[in-house]
Amino acid sequence: MSQSLRAVRGMNDIFLDDAENWEQFEALIRDWLKSYGYRPIRTPIVEPTPLFKRAIGEVTDIVEKEMYSFEDALNGEHLTLRPENTASCVRAVMQHSLLHSGPKRLYYYGPMFRHERPQKGRYRQFHQIGAEALGFEGPDIDAELILMCARLWDDLGLQGLRLELNSLGSADERAAHRAALIDYFEQHRDQLDEDATRRLHSNPLRILDTKNPAMQALVEAAPVLMDFLGAESLAHFAGVQAVLKDAGVAYRINTRLVRGLDYYNRTVFEWVTDQLGAQGTVCAGGRYDGLVEQLGGKSTPAAGFAMGVERLLSLWLASGGMPAQEAPDVYVVHQGEAADRFAFPVAEGLRAHGFAVVLHCGGGSFKSQMKKADGSGAPFAVIIGDDEAQAAEVTLKPLRDAGEQRRVAADQLADMLADLLLAVDDDNGSV
Ligand code: ATP
Ligand code: MG
Repeated sequence: MSQSLRAVRGMNDIFLDDAENWEQFEALIRDWLKSYGYRPIRTPIVEPTPLFKRAIGEVTDIVEKEMYSFEDALNGEHLTLRPENTASCVRAVMQHSLLHSGPKRLYYYGPMFRHERPQKGRYRQFHQIGAEALGFEGPDIDAELILMCARLWDDLGLQGLRLELNSLGSADERAAHRAALIDYFEQHRDQLDEDATRRLHSNPLRILDTKNPAMQALVEAAPVLMDFLGAESLAHFAGVQAVLKDAGVAYRINTRLVRGLDYYNRTVFEWVTDQLGAQGTVCAGGRYDGLVEQLGGKSTPAAGFAMGVERLLSLWLASGGMPAQEAPDVYVVHQGEAADRFAFPVAEGLRAHGFAVVLHCGGGSFKSQMKKADGSGAPFAVIIGDDEAQAAEVTLKPLRDAGEQRRVAADQLADMLADLLLAVDDDNGSV
């Protein structure tokens, strides 16, 4: 296949077993979100570029170098494939006045786009599950968001996920810290790399987030935001921690956790693992009370998190938590003119009773059809020859054990199959 027709680098096709794993994972995720009262929101994948610039911040990795931005060739609009979904959620909530009827717990699930260097756990199209709680002020919702994550790890059987926690305080507190930071880094100008020098006055907090080993010592000795927090911020932070302690959720306070997006304040957190190499953060979130106002609305408290689905899935796979793949209940083989026609109502009749049925298509000998039936993983084959068709009957043949094959009236097939499948499940030890 010509290189120019292949999928875009860093963007993956997901199919068959993998795609089924995704679907099983997604079903679990939806149940989990529902169990906390979160309701879905779906926003467009493309948004006006200024939305992300304003929400995420001009001096951030995402806006500076990761966005898929383009000009609509037809009308010149500046558009961007969403690199994250919080900005769009907040936009939608504002646009449709969703908070008029009170605070909302919302969740989203879907693809995000960032132009990063592709590697394991880092893609250009990747997927996030996110929860956004809008209109809640107190530390209880922050704590609940974190507890939710802990429950999901439990539901998925994931171990070894660690919680890192910090508070970024209020805008004023950050401003005081920021001034102190600029002072400090100015005194050590000679040790700043190019990125840091550029960010010194535009976004000095982000210097703390540097991955440059040469700057680690400098960054470690820098003024700590926690020391600038006032009573209210400290009380909020203590409130979050009290709930976590009651629930027995362990955490580490990491005063250097600043998050890569500008909109956070007060509580921020990350769930990290050592099992995924360099891409160890599976979930990141926090409070973003200023974002609605930043987008032109009235001040609204908000908090949320986003999880990387690819990273979570690979952890789930590694922990062996994946249930067996789905096989159909029945594979229908048929040969002869009357049989070929009769096979359709037989298959449809079974589906109407809720069975998963693969109807053989494409003809071929009984022998080759039976091979396909075997390969399908179905526990039963329904065999129809002209003989059976004329008598409105079918032959039901067990494929996985030594049971007898038998002739059954077509109108009794569903009942019989239900009994037999129940017996198969019992043998397998399930209910
Ligand atoms: P990182 O430091 O790994 O780049 P980030 O701070 O940019 O992460 P967020 O914007 O907070 O990430 O996104 C939340 C989660 O989404 C991350 O913790 C991660 O699990 C996942 N994620 C982010 N970017 C990617 C990507 N390019 N490919 C796969 N997953 C990603
Ligand atoms: Mg990133």
